[in-house]
Amino acid sequence: MIEFAGLQQQYNEIADQIEQAVNGVFKGGWFILGRELENFENEFSRYIGTKFGIGVNSGSDALLLAVQALGIGEGDEVITVSHTFISTVDSIVRNGARPVFLDIDPETFCIDAAQIEKKITKKTRAIIPVHLYGNPADMMTIMEIAENYNLYVIEDASQAHGAKYKGKRVGGIGDIGCFSFYPAKNLGAYGDGGMIVTDNLELAEKMRKLRNYGQPEKNRHDFVGVNSRLDEIQAAVLRIKLKHLDNWNAKRRQIAAQYDSLLSELPVVGPVETEFAEDVYHLYVIKCQQRDALQQKLLRHDIHTQIHYPVPVHKQKAYLDLGFDVKLPVTEQICGEILSLPIHPWLAEADVQTVADAMKSAL
Ligand SMILES: *Cc1c(COP(=O)(O)O)cnc(C)c1O
Repeated sequence: MIEFAGLQQQYNEIADQIEQAVNGVFKGGWFILGRELENFENEFSRYIGTKFGIGVNSGSDALLLAVQALGIGEGDEVITVSHTFISTVDSIVRNGARPVFLDIDPETFCIDAAQIEKKITKKTRAIIPVHLYGNPADMMTIMEIAENYNLYVIEDASQAHGAKYKGKRVGGIGDIGCFSFYPAKNLGAYGDGGMIVTDNLELAEKMRKLRNYGQPEKNRHDFVGVNSRLDEIQAAVLRIKLKHLDNWNAKRRQIAAQYDSLLSELPVVGPVETEFAEDVYHLYVIKCQQRDALQQKLLRHDIHTQIHYPVPVHKQKAYLDLGFDVKLPVTEQICGEILSLPIHPWLAEADVQTVADAMKSAL
């Protein structure tokens, strides 16, 4: 069997370190907003290249609090994509603002930056690019437009821990970067977790309060906040895993390169890494005309694949009532063609060969 993710193998590699770190938290008897979180916030933000890191409960909360901290709400518009995980867009709607959907670049699967300008109105406040599948969006174009029109940029880097754009790690390029530590992400907790990064002190302080009941100190509440903190156990786990991230990402890149060469003769289109980008291959997504048949045939070989995502956000039931009658031709076309092949740092060369062979016989 070839599994989609390798979380058990990951644990086997680092079990001793993890157990020691988690036991340390148990013995210390301090579970929320302590030294592990503070250290991890410093280590992760340094890794990304930003001044501040704010640990939260999830990637969804990171996005939600980022939009809120920028004061974006009723009457405002935020430009983003429909081809993403739902939370990207939820963060806009839950703050009372309106998402303006843009199509994606068919090669990178990220926002089609060339179309941003024509969607800007007097109400536009921000752009949320998503570095989907671990592949950086076109940040140079996005940052130029944001500067010209005085817009904020929130990067959804939930699938791109460690990916680089022009040598700079994504999440650290816009005003705010948001990360998820959902277990299967390139950097994942043993439960839920997330992080917001920024260079802006004022925003950092605001988000630090927001995640903790709007509270700068005990019994003082400056505004209505939430309870969304990354707990000490998860922070201790993530500190260990962060040390392995670059190695694990390098393994993913090796596997992607192996797929690239093995699949080059088949009637499928592989992912494209642009000139400025260093992709960390959270997912290895191909396009194939007979996607559903291929997925079934691979499953018969016990090869597990997934689809990210079969239904774009603007077609989801939750969004139908909001009246999005937009046409997003690339988004709507590729959701019937994309297939995420198994990729994780513990996938052996022979496994990749097995997947490629099975695809060859299926197509
Ligand atoms: C995983 C993910 C999120 C949400 O993160 P959670 O930690 O699951 O809340 C948001 N955006 C993208 C692109 C993601 O992949």
